[in-house]
Amino acid sequence: GAPRRVPAVVVGSGYGSAVTALRLGEAGVETLVLEMGQLWNQPGPDGKVFSGMLNPDRRSTWFKDRTEAPLASFLWLDLANRDIPRYAGVLDRVHFGDMSVYLGRGVGGGSLVNGAMAVVPKRDYFEEILPNVDADAMYGTYFPRARAMLGVNEVDQAWFEECDSYQYARLSRRHAQRAGLGTAFVPSTYDFAYMQQEEAGTAPRSALGSEVIYGNNHGKRSLDKSYLAAAVGTGKVTIAPLHEVREVERRADGTFVLTVRRIDPEGAELEVFAVETPRLFLGAGSVGTTQLLVRARETGTLPGLGEAVGQGWGTNGNVMLGRANHLWDTTGSLQAGMPALGIDNWADPVHPVFAEIAPVPAGIETWASLYLAITRNPERGHFTYDAATDRAVLNWTAAQGQPSIDAAKALFDRVNDANGTIYRHDLFGDTRAFENRFTYHPLGGCVLGAATDDHGRVKGVPGLYVTDGSLIPGSTGVNPFVTITALAERNVEDVLARDFG
Ligand code: FAD
Repeated sequence: GAPRRVPAVVVGSGYGSAVTALRLGEAGVETLVLEMGQLWNQPGPDGKVFSGMLNPDRRSTWFKDRTEAPLASFLWLDLANRDIPRYAGVLDRVHFGDMSVYLGRGVGGGSLVNGAMAVVPKRDYFEEILPNVDADAMYGTYFPRARAMLGVNEVDQAWFEECDSYQYARLSRRHAQRAGLGTAFVPSTYDFAYMQQEEAGTAPRSALGSEVIYGNNHGKRSLDKSYLAAAVGTGKVTIAPLHEVREVERRADGTFVLTVRRIDPEGAELEVFAVETPRLFLGAGSVGTTQLLVRARETGTLPGLGEAVGQGWGTNGNVMLGRANHLWDTTGSLQAGMPALGIDNWADPVHPVFAEIAPVPAGIETWASLYLAITRNPERGHFTYDAATDRAVLNWTAAQGQPSIDAAKALFDRVNDANGTIYRHDLFGDTRAFENRFTYHPLGGCVLGAATDDHGRVKGVPGLYVTDGSLIPGSTGVNPFVTITALAERNVEDVLARDFG
């Protein structure tokens, strides 16, 4: 079992946590990582660790009776989803009224399920959203450090131009160019050399085998293979999977007491026990960390927490949409599940958009071009405590999503006009063309410099730190994990230097 008293505890094992655990371990601090999801290293009966998107089984989803894929339908038919037994699967979709949030569950957090797009934000936008962070240090030291540690690599452009797997991206690029729009290659933590072998037929297919949001059996440099492997390698870090932190309390002597629930993969409770620590690092993600803290504040277990905790949450302006292509404009039935190209119109003064050209990994020609647009939506949600369910909940209304739609529509109306194409209305369960009832990029809730000091120390609660996406005020303008990783590198350096004498 997990130790019951430790010098440092890290909650969660996503990007912020993985960085923190490694640097604590390197500094010789005995550290326990508590992760509610599974360690994904055991093959199932089919010889694979993860199930694919075309035939998802219980491994796909965190304790639901049916899968909840983002593309709910095709020609209005519910082809993507399956009934499944409840299980500690790798992808969760957490519902809060008008907004639901996709989250990775397992050792590695979001890195297990994400599209691996590893993008450094535009510097002027970064300076705008986090004005108190020294941008020279970020761009000179911490972004490069994060990229190196994450194993970021670039697609071979000659291969990109002639491969089958990115025909869909080249088609979208052509359509964007006709509208006068520019595209940019997107770096990745998926191993592009491995992907080339997949296309050549010399290695088992993963990105080319419709594996994305339910995990990749090959090719993906997820955190369990990078930061977390290095953390465990220090000999100081222990990772406890299937251990959920339910409650955080601070005693008068400054010790944190965590209530931890250990389950088996079917969900049976094995034990509930207390872990004590003087140093607590929260990396449970924007939703997880904010929920823990709002509940602790409202139930009185963490005296001193201020009103900024629970504020400043955003969707990174996420909105998904599909375009219907002409019959002669095929996207190809073989599609790399990891995007490698985006339409970059962030310089637009009215409607900045960075739109990733997303795959439709259906294994058949769909004549659909899919996009996940990142827009600059100024709306922010906040968390409140619901005493009836004893749970902190996100407050976000459908109307708050409208600016994301307006921006995406401004861009893709141009693309459609230039190409004589229209939107797809059959992809999201009803007839809507723009889907923004979910986000892949939850950010904020414990914003840097507001709920915490400028290095993630929670205001009013000495010894408590936030390390994850909840520090970022609702938006990064690009896919967020490189920003989360680099900020965590920066913050933990300061904390180790000044708080661990
Ligand atoms: P997370 O990675 O969310 O990790 C939090 C961890 O804490 C999880 O493992 C969770 O199980 C655990 N946890 C939560 N609560 C508790 C608790 N109470 N006790 C114990 N453990 C707990 N970003 C990009 O940059 N590029 C992409 O291509 C991209 N694609 C995406 C695709 C999908 C389908 C999804 C869902 C996300 C994608 N993202 C992408 C977003 C990216 O994965 C997240 O921004 C990132 O993972 C957030 O990192 P984090 O450290 O804040 O927390």
